[in-house]
Amino acid sequence: ILSEPNHTCLVGGLCGEKKMAGVVRTDVMMVTPWLAPIVWNGAFNIDILNAQFHKRDVRIGLTLFALKKYTVFLKNFIETAEKYFMVGHKVHYYVFTDRPQDIPSLSLAEGRTLNVTEVTSYKRWQDVTMRRMQIISENCLQRFIYEVDYLVCADVDMIFSDHVGVEILSDVFAAIHPGFFQLPRQKFTHERRPESQGFIPKDEGDYYYTGCYFGGTVEEIYKVANFCHNAMMADKAKNIEALWHDESYLNRYFLYYKPTKVLSPEYVWNNYYGSSVYVPSKRFVHVEKDYVRIRSD
Ligand code: UDP
Ligand code: MN
Repeated sequence: ILSEPNHTCLVGGLCGEKKMAGVVRTDVMMVTPWLAPIVWNGAFNIDILNAQFHKRDVRIGLTLFALKKYTVFLKNFIETAEKYFMVGHKVHYYVFTDRPQDIPSLSLAEGRTLNVTEVTSYKRWQDVTMRRMQIISENCLQRFIYEVDYLVCADVDMIFSDHVGVEILSDVFAAIHPGFFQLPRQKFTHERRPESQGFIPKDEGDYYYTGCYFGGTVEEIYKVANFCHNAMMADKAKNIEALWHDESYLNRYFLYYKPTKVLSPEYVWNNYYGSSVYVPSKRFVHVEKDYVRIRSD
């Protein structure tokens, strides 16, 4: 597939040909001010993208952390990922856990593998989520760089419920948090204390990105994860912890090193926010959980 058959004309209607449905949406922002695409439903032709990525025989790593009681989320995550995530492409799931005996055996489609790595846990849930950055950065150097082209880093308490494919891939991508896409930047819950490495001044911040979903090439994700881990350690030495942990450091990184692609909240929804007319398809959704119970030892 070389091109979109109905799309030959740059300016809609002028040449009298049928326009490609949905390429231009006037209800949502489709490009960031630094000219990165914002990915919305209907804004791309998946057949063209699949052909392009197949030509490169692209390998995609998905990092997942399931420590302590969070191992319960793995089965549904992987089963739904098999149905909707990067179908037809080479996928390596990298599962990090402190309870390898609790990882269920799951059947995967051809071209897809799952690898379990044992890691040590931390007492506080905040440390468990933040230390993901250290483990990701170390593994970028030790193995990801040799095994995959792109990495997708996701929370495990999620399920896929619609297509998520190569349209999300780019040098470095971030996803807009579903609770903030209609709010002005003053409402973003960035870290506002100047003494923290996660600091973002009140009048700055492009979007409020979620900490539960980001990705890019292994080289770029190494930079992201390494920055976040070092920022966290520098804060720790001063006895500070950014407001939303790894998410705050991630937002700080993306303020100064802009993502090359931004995913709309279709790509990471939370039913806590109900539904939105802007998000007809909730592709990747947080599972409801009992916070106190699931985070207890
Ligand atoms: N996590 C884990 N075990 C824990 C706490 C967190 O494995 O005890 C991992 C897991 O991948 C989880 C992520 O850290 O999805 C982020 O934590 P959580 O989902 O609780 O944060 P939230 O999405 O509620 O902000
Ligand atoms: Mn989560």
